[in-house]
Amino acid sequence: MKKIGMLAQIFIGFILAVILGAVLGPKMEVVQPLGDLFLRLIKFIVVPLVLASLITGITSLNNVKKLLSVGGKTIAYFMVTTLMAVSIGLLVGTVIAPGKGLDIAIPTENAEQKEMPSVVDTFLNIIPTNPFESLSTGNILQIIFIAIAIGMAITAVGEKAKPLADFFDSLAQVMYKITGFIMKLAPIGVFGIMAPIVGNYGLAIILPLLKVILAVAIACAIQLLVTYSIAVRTLGKMSPFQFIKGILPAGLVAFTTASSSATLPVSIKNTEENLGVSKEISSFVLPLGSTVNMDGGAIYQGIAVIFIAQFFNVDLSFSQIITVMVMAMLVSIGAAGVPGAGLIMLTMVLQSVNLPLEGIALVAAIDRILDMFRTSINVMGDASAAVVVQESENKKNLRKAA
Ligand code: ASP
Repeated sequence: MKKIGMLAQIFIGFILAVILGAVLGPKMEVVQPLGDLFLRLIKFIVVPLVLASLITGITSLNNVKKLLSVGGKTIAYFMVTTLMAVSIGLLVGTVIAPGKGLDIAIPTENAEQKEMPSVVDTFLNIIPTNPFESLSTGNILQIIFIAIAIGMAITAVGEKAKPLADFFDSLAQVMYKITGFIMKLAPIGVFGIMAPIVGNYGLAIILPLLKVILAVAIACAIQLLVTYSIAVRTLGKMSPFQFIKGILPAGLVAFTTASSSATLPVSIKNTEENLGVSKEISSFVLPLGSTVNMDGGAIYQGIAVIFIAQFFNVDLSFSQIITVMVMAMLVSIGAAGVPGAGLIMLTMVLQSVNLPLEGIALVAAIDRILDMFRTSINVMGDASAAVVVQESENKKNLRKAA
């Protein structure tokens, strides 16, 4: 029998889950433990994998200038693609008009007021006061800070710190190996997570809001097929087909788990093995992206605002649209890569343009479905950044060598 590739296996698990979930309904909850097993395993690997591979990456980047160059390009790319994402979301929302003429009762849930943390606090929070706490709570931004500090200090100390560098290098290798083992379970895991979700979503919940789901799906497809495809083709010198095929396993795992940070082990593996990105670049760009770059999240904010405004018959002014764009970018930076983060952040976006917070309850019913689309775009967006930054660094090295 011909060996079936990992991507095909995951796909089979996914399709089976959709079919069985649709046919057997809530009964499919029996397979939930398979999903939980996989989810726990990939979450278990995230912190040591990110810490070890990022320290190794920073040590091999070797100097501050290079770090700043990679960091600067990454942030610039994140900002441009997020801006594209929210614009696409607003546009598709306006064209599809999911909230026009919709007549459903608003669920009576009290949406909590949320305050945007101040920019100063957000930056200060990156510095951990207790690095062990950052590791035990899995605070990715703080872990990035720890890794940069240790990695740079290893380089500065030189020979004496070599055993530590070797330790982290070897830890990273071991964690990759474990990731490989865990990935063998991905098809079963994807099946176990997806089937109960499909089984529990009745058509009664989905149908009235089908246009919202469609709008988010279409906008996500445009972001992938237009924005990222053009970016990887022109800036990354890679065929969009190769890019999409290479990152699809991570895209599917993100879709099912709805968590960018849980998907990190898979996206790091795919980006290195299938897209040829070096460890230095992928171990820096992907963890950073999993918390500060959420293009799918920005698409979602744009569409949700248009939908809620239409539902309440509010015409958005030009300045409100600009406010939404700025807020979507900030929210993309501030939201954590965990399920449902975007929905919480929507409160702040609605507040910023004075839209009724009851709107949250409208989209909450289908949030898990929207979350799946936005998370897979969040993850694939980070991978496209890694490809683009890698190519730009390659070019710089060639120029230097010439
Ligand atoms: N679930 C998303 C993620 O992990 C965040 C969000 O809710 O938008 O990337």
